[in-house]
Amino acid sequence: MDRFKQMIADRHEYAKAWKKKTGGLVVGYCPNYMPEELAYAAGMLPIRIMAEQKPDVVSAKWIYASCYVAKNMTNMLLNGEYDYMDAFVHVEDCQWTFNVFEVASNNFPSLLTHYLFTPDYTEGPIAKDVFRSELNVLKGKFEAWTGKAVTEEALDKAIEIYNTNRRLLRQIYEMRRFYQTKILGSEMMNLMLANQVTDKAEMNKILEDFIVELDARAPYDDRLRLMLVGSETFNADLEELVESLGANVVVDELDNGSSNIWNDVVLHKDRLMALSLRYMGRPHSAMKDSNWRRRPQHIFELSEDYMVDGVLVVKQLVCQAHGSDNYAVWKLLRERNIPFHFFERDTTLPLDETRVRIESFLSMLRPGVTRIRGWHQPLGI
Ligand code: SF4
Repeated sequence: MDRFKQMIADRHEYAKAWKKKTGGLVVGYCPNYMPEELAYAAGMLPIRIMAEQKPDVVSAKWIYASCYVAKNMTNMLLNGEYDYMDAFVHVEDCQWTFNVFEVASNNFPSLLTHYLFTPDYTEGPIAKDVFRSELNVLKGKFEAWTGKAVTEEALDKAIEIYNTNRRLLRQIYEMRRFYQTKILGSEMMNLMLANQVTDKAEMNKILEDFIVELDARAPYDDRLRLMLVGSETFNADLEELVESLGANVVVDELDNGSSNIWNDVVLHKDRLMALSLRYMGRPHSAMKDSNWRRRPQHIFELSEDYMVDGVLVVKQLVCQAHGSDNYAVWKLLRERNIPFHFFERDTTLPLDETRVRIESFLSMLRPGVTRIRGWHQPLGI
């Protein structure tokens, strides 16, 4: 198994071992605007709560007609798969995940919980001040939970570790811009997910070694280059399917993918404001792309930078955030003549149906592709 895929599979055991070794608290969170640096500076291990489809006879009782991501997370929490988690922070973004937070809060009275308000209009005139103030409240909560002050030194160290982590990941993303890539989309997606459940100081060492390994690796053959846009995902099944059909996902615009690591904290005397500016300034999630629209242009720029031949716009069933935002993405892709294919999935991928869809999309793309092997070569792909 891909080593990063294995890290995802082992994430519960990893967190339990981390707790035993450090005596620290594990704080689960969702969705993705979590200022992990603050938790890390408080000596906690922040982990993204992930969705995984398992036999489910409990979630429908608590949250009905929700997306499968929220249902799967609820099922896993109620079945005790996250029983090692000491705290749960819900970060204001998607309302379905707020339901997950409510169910967990109601069912596990000993769980430490916090609802972190995050402005939806991140460019609003007072958004950064509001979020800074919310971060101060969260910092107080963490101090109360751990019984220790979060010092400026600890925050600086955490910010440095997280900035390094994001820089290393972006370094790998940069390699995906190469004409002939050295990393496939499935490996990258597994890496991104593993990163969200691992201590970042440890992960940084893994990433540094992995970059050396990538440098020495022979590139893959030319493949059709695709971009993945849409709802968050928690496995690389789609990327693997794309690869089995002779193409490669070379970049994503997923909330728990590139959007999560695209900018850094710029140090500032007021550390909380520095964090606020970073989180309010990151690429928008679909929920936060309303008054100040940035997602379509960001997607367009990524598609150019990564020389993509086509875009897969993939929405989780009943995903309210992307359901209401997709029209703006489609509009831009149509206006700029960027081929795209839209479909819905849940946390599992319907393999046969999706294979037929993607095969058809790739067949549509191939005659128009002139990039691969240059203009003068026959298109033998
Ligand atoms: S898939 Fe969409 S609706 Fe479901 S939790 Fe994620 S953002 Fe929210």
